[in-house]
Amino acid sequence: MNASSNEVLHPTGGVREGLLIYNTLSRQKELFKPLVEGRVGMYVCGPTVYGDAHLGHARPAITFDLLFRYLQHIGYKVRYVRNITDVGHLEHDADEGEDKIAKKARLEQLEPMEVAQYYTNRFHDAMRALNCLPPSIEPHASGHIIEQIQLVKEILDNGFAYESQGSVYFDIEKYNEKYHYGRLSGRNLDDVINASRELDGVGEKRNQVDFALWKAAQPEHIMRWPSPWSDGFPGWHCECTAMGRKYLGERFDIHGGGMDLVFPHHECEIAQAVASQGHDIVNYWMHNNMVTINGQKMGKSLGNFITLSQFFTGDHEALKQAYSPMTIRFFILQAHYRSTVDFSNEALQAAEKGLQRLMEGWKGIGRITPVANAGADSIKMEYVDSLRQKCYDAMNDDLASPTVISELFDACRVINTLLDHKATVTADVLAALKETFSTFAFDILGLTMFNGHVLLSEGEKCSMVNESSSAREEAFGKAVDMLLEQRAVAKANKDWATSDKIRNELTALGFEIKDTKDGATWTLNK
Ligand SMILES: [Zn+2]
Repeated sequence: MNASSNEVLHPTGGVREGLLIYNTLSRQKELFKPLVEGRVGMYVCGPTVYGDAHLGHARPAITFDLLFRYLQHIGYKVRYVRNITDVGHLEHDADEGEDKIAKKARLEQLEPMEVAQYYTNRFHDAMRALNCLPPSIEPHASGHIIEQIQLVKEILDNGFAYESQGSVYFDIEKYNEKYHYGRLSGRNLDDVINASRELDGVGEKRNQVDFALWKAAQPEHIMRWPSPWSDGFPGWHCECTAMGRKYLGERFDIHGGGMDLVFPHHECEIAQAVASQGHDIVNYWMHNNMVTINGQKMGKSLGNFITLSQFFTGDHEALKQAYSPMTIRFFILQAHYRSTVDFSNEALQAAEKGLQRLMEGWKGIGRITPVANAGADSIKMEYVDSLRQKCYDAMNDDLASPTVISELFDACRVINTLLDHKATVTADVLAALKETFSTFAFDILGLTMFNGHVLLSEGEKCSMVNESSSAREEAFGKAVDMLLEQRAVAKANKDWATSDKIRNELTALGFEIKDTKDGATWTLNK
């Protein structure tokens, strides 16, 4: 979308002005200002591919998809990098033995890379179902070992790391003499040292708090690469620093991820970047809050761990029914990304109803017949202007998606008034209302009427980047409307065979057709 068409949509002047985002580093909302005018570099920590994505993975994916969509909508050219962690990492530096991917490979009798590929494909399927746009670059950690070794060398050369029995550790005490370790999480070194006191002996490390930059592989460790220090593998914080720098530069705009990554992962990323290049790498750190299940933290050991595909099929004892990918997306967007979200069947059922109400509103717009002249009972252009402005204001206020949704519900109320013939609207106001609704519901919030299932088909894979969501929604909707018009013609001609055939085939595809006095309406029950 070019800037001139945006200026019409964004009457505050300066389409890119006024976006506030909460920076975890400064603990306040800041006016977003990119390093290079008109461009944004954004890095988000991606999945470790040794298991299926769960609800906790959907949250950062949807949060940063919302940001990606909005930045593009307001006219930025965005490079969005999200990594795939396919290098086996140990749970903690203190762990010995197998990494997670190798362990899974042994249990399933597969090559480690077969495991990584399998779960990468499944992650992509889930992302597509949730209508998350693919990132611009999706680098694999295993494909960037050279860059990670280079990073470790630079940190060693600058004196902030040491070698010990083939492994390399980051020297936190040394780093903290010159810089401040703990800026992002608000900890100081003493807190970190005290918190780690109960752990096992120091072993290879000078200090228990030091973290691995490179680990010498144990004999049973399958995933290993040669390095100047040993055959081994990079420490788990290295890949994001090395790949962020490679694709976005020594300084870039936004780094995102879940709040659980603030410490130690992102704290260590900051330390690695500063220790290697002498200055910060990221301007805005953004973190989404966590998803809890019935008030509890989600975890495999707690038995409340529900994968996204289980949500989509309903195949889990904690689920009362299946929930469509769009219900999950809507559920997540109904909360501000910095608030916690608690899953329960009741909350998801409410989200399902809410989404349906919104989509009914959208379809209702298509059934409104405009009047030629505005009367006393007409919906005014001022209403649409104010609706649009409130939606932009909400998005500019640190992506307040719940406010956008409540404004769209207000639009649904107006649409129903028009459908009930309690108010009138002229064609230009109706067109503006339709444009505003579809821009926010489909292009920015990334919702779709088709519940996400249709997006799982092969043919959809490549079309999503270039095509706007609202255009796609409109095309799908029009195709169904066209069939219903054919059916209306057949009925008028008393051609019951054709009329029934259209109805039955649409029903078989999952559409529910209702005949009303104003003609037939449809919903998709898939
Ligand atoms: Zn990361």
